[in-house]
Amino acid sequence: MTRRRFIAGAVCPKCALMDTIVVDMDSDKRECVSCGFSEDRPQAPKQSELPTRVNRGLSRRTETPAEAVKLLDPLNFEKK
Ligand SMILES: [Zn+2]
Repeated sequence: MTRRRFIAGAVCPKCALMDTIVVDMDSDKRECVSCGFSEDRPQAPKQSELPTRVNRGLSRRTETPAEAVKLLDPLNFEKK
């Protein structure tokens, strides 16, 4: 069985809806429950330590590091 977690505030790059992105906790893949968009996690966790909210406006155009940081933090908390 696959464990999934919704990413609060994440915007789907395909359909642009918010709060439709889930992350598969086993494979770290992201998927949109609305349009079926799916994507591997773009980068390693420790590289992005800059959770700038300024970047949120750009998240529709490109995969911003800030988005990845937001989803990694809660996951790390749960594993402790
Ligand atoms: Zn979507």
